[in-house]
Amino acid sequence: AKELGKNGYQFYKAEMNDTVIQKLVMEEWLNKALEQEEFVLYYQPQVDIFTTRMNGMEALIRWNHPRLGFISPGEFIPLAEETGLIIPIGQWVLRTACKQNKAWQLAGFPPLKMAVNISPIQFHQHDFVQVVLDALQESGLEPRYLELEITEGIAMYHVDQVIQKLQTLRELGVHISMDDFGTGYSSLNYLKKFPIDKLKIAQQFVRDITVDPDDAAIVQAIMAMALSLKLNVIAEGVETEEQLSFLLDIKCREIQGYIYSKPVPAHEFTDLMLRPPA
Ligand code: C2E
Ligand code: CA
Ligand code: CA
Repeated sequence: AKELGKNGYQFYKAEMNDTVIQKLVMEEWLNKALEQEEFVLYYQPQVDIFTTRMNGMEALIRWNHPRLGFISPGEFIPLAEETGLIIPIGQWVLRTACKQNKAWQLAGFPPLKMAVNISPIQFHQHDFVQVVLDALQESGLEPRYLELEITEGIAMYHVDQVIQKLQTLRELGVHISMDDFGTGYSSLNYLKKFPIDKLKIAQQFVRDITVDPDDAAIVQAIMAMALSLKLNVIAEGVETEEQLSFLLDIKCREIQGYIYSKPVPAHEFTDLMLRPPA
């Protein structure tokens, strides 16, 4: 065999330059990944910066392929969505995240909220609410310790049904947060109509918050909007002290980012729950 190089994925890309074949092969692998237990969840803390306490965590999927190594979700989620595989994968994520959260609670850690990413395709399934209920029931996790991260793209079709589903989920006690807020096309009108709890300020606005006045203005506008609509806010992708103090200044209460921790596997996450944030 040829040398695999540092990045196995590059190797694979170079070997199969026919993109159609490449995709078919990838799809074939993706198909088997669930039953071969190649997926794993990593967890990243969400921290209250007023109290410096951890509020919860976001579950982020990783694909550990036996030959290619770790493949990031940015690489395979789009294919999973295209092929419909996102539905069983998404169910696995929900069940695993709920079970893990319950296991931490049973182990005596203070109860935290687990945020799970939901693809629009998954959300639009007619039985999505039932899938969430099953994951909660199976794990024994109380609904208030689950948060679903949806994106603005969800509002592209069947808006009334979307609102209905969100309403049902919230009545059950599940939290809803709008991921990557500001990057999609959702109008302010949607925001008012959507029963959600939290806005997640997209990393792209946070990145240059201290140097780009436009980004700073956008983030401040989101804060003002959230305040008047009584929504919570979390800023993601926070990496530096400068970004952190800017966010503290504008009273953005919650953050997620490398400044506190990268996403880590479950066994490392327990260490983070034991030590207070820096
Ligand atoms: P996302 O939901 O916006 O997740 C945040 C991404 O930013 C994660 O990338 C995380 O590792 C990364 N990140 C966190 N803090 C920082 C930081 O301080 N700096 C920088 N530069 N990056 C940071 P990741 O894990 O590669 O996930 C990428 C995307 O894949 C996610 O974006 C989400 O859209 C999707 N994804 C991940 N897991 C799942 C899943 O279980 N289901 C679905 N449907 N999508 C998922
Ligand atoms: Ca997310
Ligand atoms: Ca995001």
